[in-house]
Amino acid sequence: MRIQFLGAAGEVTGSCYLVAVRETKFLVDCGLFQGMQLADQRCHAQFAFDPTRLDAVVLTHAHIDHCGRVPQLFARGFRGPVYATEPTAALAKLQWDDALSLMEEKQKRENHLPLYGATDVERAKHSLVGLPYGHRQKMSGDVDFIFHDAGHIFGSAWVEVRGGERVAVFSGDIGNDNVPIVRETEQIVACDVLVTEATYGDRTHSSTATRREDLRRVILDAVKRGGALMIAAFSLERTQEILFELNQLIEHERALPRVPIFLDSPLAIRANAVFRKFTSYYDEAAAAAWRAGDDFLDFPGLHVTASVADSKLINTTPNPKIIIAGSGMLVGGRITHHLMRYLPDLHSTLLLVSYQAEGTLGRKIKDRAHSVMINGEHILVRCVVEKIDSYSAHGDQEKLLRWMVSGKEPPKQVVVVHSDPPAATEFCAIARTRNHVNIEAAMSGQILEI
Ligand SMILES: [Zn+2]
Repeated sequence: MRIQFLGAAGEVTGSCYLVAVRETKFLVDCGLFQGMQLADQRCHAQFAFDPTRLDAVVLTHAHIDHCGRVPQLFARGFRGPVYATEPTAALAKLQWDDALSLMEEKQKRENHLPLYGATDVERAKHSLVGLPYGHRQKMSGDVDFIFHDAGHIFGSAWVEVRGGERVAVFSGDIGNDNVPIVRETEQIVACDVLVTEATYGDRTHSSTATRREDLRRVILDAVKRGGALMIAAFSLERTQEILFELNQLIEHERALPRVPIFLDSPLAIRANAVFRKFTSYYDEAAAAAWRAGDDFLDFPGLHVTASVADSKLINTTPNPKIIIAGSGMLVGGRITHHLMRYLPDLHSTLLLVSYQAEGTLGRKIKDRAHSVMINGEHILVRCVVEKIDSYSAHGDQEKLLRWMVSGKEPPKQVVVVHSDPPAATEFCAIARTRNHVNIEAAMSGQILEI
């Protein structure tokens, strides 16, 4: 088996690994490069392989940095199957539609060439093969693979690949403990090589135990101040987790005053339908709620604003009120309009529940900027800014170390991807000492023969 690291090697985006076993060649993930300098040029660059010679693509989950370039493979001649779990397949379709419409808008605005067109997205959608966890799928006479629950986002998987005599495990992204709705990460299997993410390889998250209580406190304070509470959340997963928590607080614990709550995110509204469809993927708490007839993505006081006209009605609704909108890092999305309106308001609150990458508007506000530029306007930040870190969908250092050796025997070799170099270095050092594993960080373009 031969593995080449073509993305997320020495960085956290653009996940893409080319695997070859005799005549069979396939990709594990094919995601967008994001955030860093040259990200856009790298997305537009030629692939380091011939897409017409690929047999298949295997997707670990529906985050755009893992699946965003799949339609581009079709634009460049790939015609094989795209394997994913059933929820990942459904969520990837939404992601590709969303990415395409963003690229088309950018083309109109800046004459910027899109990575792919509507035909490529349609081809990609039709090539998706949805599989349940635990099913051994034959790809060729030499390769088969199984999706196992990664506990990261809905439908997320780590993948066990068998090629000839060898077993490789690709972690995808490994989840935090106790992520609402999603089950816990499945134990690893014995393998010759583990390709593991280490996004938070040098960090420890705050405890998830007080997460719901933290959210309740922020909401109570915000309502007491009498302004608007803006919750900035990624449309996929984080929004559904927040809805799940609000449902618990409002319907079951009756721990919140009745104020209007708006879900103002078209992508999140479409993602809700995927969550409602694949109920067999729920964890115990979500499954029990569902069996008892509780739609935990809906509760008294929740208004779903799909159209722009509905969205504008939010402005005329008197405070206090809660607005959940994307994007999580305040880069575009409907939250922009609410920020322009409520950031300068002393009585309002902005709650950040996502990772805020360097250079984003969310990061600037988190770092206490007094004023920011939005749509070419200077906006004063006078509202209260709160953050809750424990909603992170990624496992921290402790979780990753524990998962790596959770199987009957430790992996014979470990390669670290999806991590900034300082985090990867620290993670490798601690994994060597604590788990006694042979571990190194992948370099971009590096080839590993096992
Ligand atoms: Zn992810």
